[in-house]
Amino acid sequence: MSEIYGNPSSLHEKGYLAQKEIEKAKQKIARVLNVNDESQIYFTSGGTEANNLAIFGSVNALKKRGNKIITTAIEHSSVYSVFKLLEKEGFNVVYLKPDIYGKIKEQQIFDAIDRNTILVSIMMANNELGSILPVKKIKEMLRRKNSFALLHVDAVQSFGKIPVNVKEINPDLLTISAHKIHGPKGVGALYKSKKVRIVPRIVGGEQQDKVRPGTESVPLIAAFGVSAEEINIEKNYLHAKKLKEYLIESLAFIDGVEINSGFDSLAYIVNFSLKGIKAETMINYLSSRGIYVSGGSACSKGKKSRVLKNVGLSDERITSALRVSFSKENTLEDISELYKAIKEGMSNLVRY
Ligand code: PLP
Repeated sequence: MSEIYGNPSSLHEKGYLAQKEIEKAKQKIARVLNVNDESQIYFTSGGTEANNLAIFGSVNALKKRGNKIITTAIEHSSVYSVFKLLEKEGFNVVYLKPDIYGKIKEQQIFDAIDRNTILVSIMMANNELGSILPVKKIKEMLRRKNSFALLHVDAVQSFGKIPVNVKEINPDLLTISAHKIHGPKGVGALYKSKKVRIVPRIVGGEQQDKVRPGTESVPLIAAFGVSAEEINIEKNYLHAKKLKEYLIESLAFIDGVEINSGFDSLAYIVNFSLKGIKAETMINYLSSRGIYVSGGSACSKGKKSRVLKNVGLSDERITSALRVSFSKENTLEDISELYKAIKEGMSNLVRY
């Protein structure tokens, strides 16, 4: 911000230096995604904007060729709300129904695809339950069904945590966000295959091939690049797995704990319900002890979780559901403290 403050679109040297920072960040992110040509990375203001751009952009490009769009009932609101809007506009939307752990079967996706389908948008890992969805086979399914539909993958929760390999998934569009990998909030990116054309959501200047015009936020983008460079999936995953196993084993000693995440969910997320205690009561109690956990998704601010409802959990279990997310910086001592605090909370807090 203080040294490389030029406008990346300017022709003078300060502009050139800023543009170089953007290119460096693109290369760092492309490397993690296993993308050869980094010009397929477009920066946005976050995962929400990238999801909106991918979905509206695809549908607006293909709406003359079909009317059916496919997603799941447990997408992040930045995907789900877009589909709800498109449904109101007359699109035939299929919301694939997950099982109780938030998993979707490959067969469900295959069966939903038909000649009228123009878009399949499915998340790679769910942000509330940590379930991992079978996105790797979708492109092959589209090919087998002779479908020209585009594939969009919301990889915000999986990027940097498990391999998100563009060559393997072969998506047309894929969303990532910096603040899930220890980068700053307010910056994300959309991978868009060179072969695909989408209609931009914003019009303006010539930046980013007009796919996402507007002067790029160079400091946020540069920081995003650095956090991508620091990703160490294997080391961090094993660490998170240890923390998760320790927490689940400890919680087994407390009466009234029900684990909502599946056994094969992402190592970084555990969702569980505490019988009789409202989530916000426990969140406040833990917060007063310097332990910060979530209820539903951070974006829903205390509303009952749609995701947990759509996997079929009871109202009682949803009301008392907590989501603990781990980072590479958490320790086993943190988990012990969390366990002790929950145990105490369960005996001291008022039940509803
Ligand atoms: N998609 C998923 C799965 C998420 O978990 C989030 C954020 O929590 C988003 C999209 C939105 O990303 P951002 O907060 O960068 O807008």
